[in-house]
Amino acid sequence: MTTDELRHQLEFYRDLGFKDLYRRSPLTLQPQSEMPPLKIPVELPGLMPENDTLDKICSDIGDCQRCRLGATRNKIVFGVGDPKAKIVFVGEGPGAEEDAQGFPFVGRAGQLLTQMIEGTSSKEGIPIKREDVYICNVVKCRPPENRTPEADEMETCGQFLFRQISVIQPKAICALGSTAAKALLGGKDGVTKLRGTWHKWQQLPLMVTFHPSYLLRPYNQNAKREAWEDLKKLLHFVYD
Ligand code: SF4
Repeated sequence: MTTDELRHQLEFYRDLGFKDLYRRSPLTLQPQSEMPPLKIPVELPGLMPENDTLDKICSDIGDCQRCRLGATRNKIVFGVGDPKAKIVFVGEGPGAEEDAQGFPFVGRAGQLLTQMIEGTSSKEGIPIKREDVYICNVVKCRPPENRTPEADEMETCGQFLFRQISVIQPKAICALGSTAAKALLGGKDGVTKLRGTWHKWQQLPLMVTFHPSYLLRPYNQNAKREAWEDLKKLLHFVYD
């Protein structure tokens, strides 16, 4: 790789919010501009290649063992939906059903997500179905016991999520829950603080709302109403 190519790659990662790039034996670049010398990792996450496609990302994932979640998963859960979708929904990670079937949001939370998308759009006079959007997760393998993915797992697997969104180029992104919001926006704020207003990921408008599994808990009636409001705002922004 030439110095220029390496510089572009590092700038790309900085734009994505990666601040700490390192390599076990630090390598110092020949300074050809004002860019300070950087340490780079032994294996950089895959840069979005030219003419990237969802098939290419899927094949790059392969039988992935890049993080510890690979050791305990059954199936990699890549994503599903229209590759030209106007909305990409991003959840946290696969659960037991998703891990068994290899598709995202197929358990109870998935059924609720389908109802949320189709019920709200039908009430609002917007004729879309679940298959018209794209649905994926921050991590593609199920965390054991459905624990929250660790920061290093999200960072490693996040490269594939970023490539998926970059290829699809939706009109808007919907982050479902705090984990997805943190993966896409950085920062520490949770869904309660972030929901209801527009944010941005790489110039694409991003709405944060509650994860459907949180809404399944019986005492979360207010959150259901708020999620419905968020979804209405999202659908009207994208389809009006
Ligand atoms: S979670 Fe992502 S990075 Fe980790 S093993 Fe699975 S596909 Fe690879």
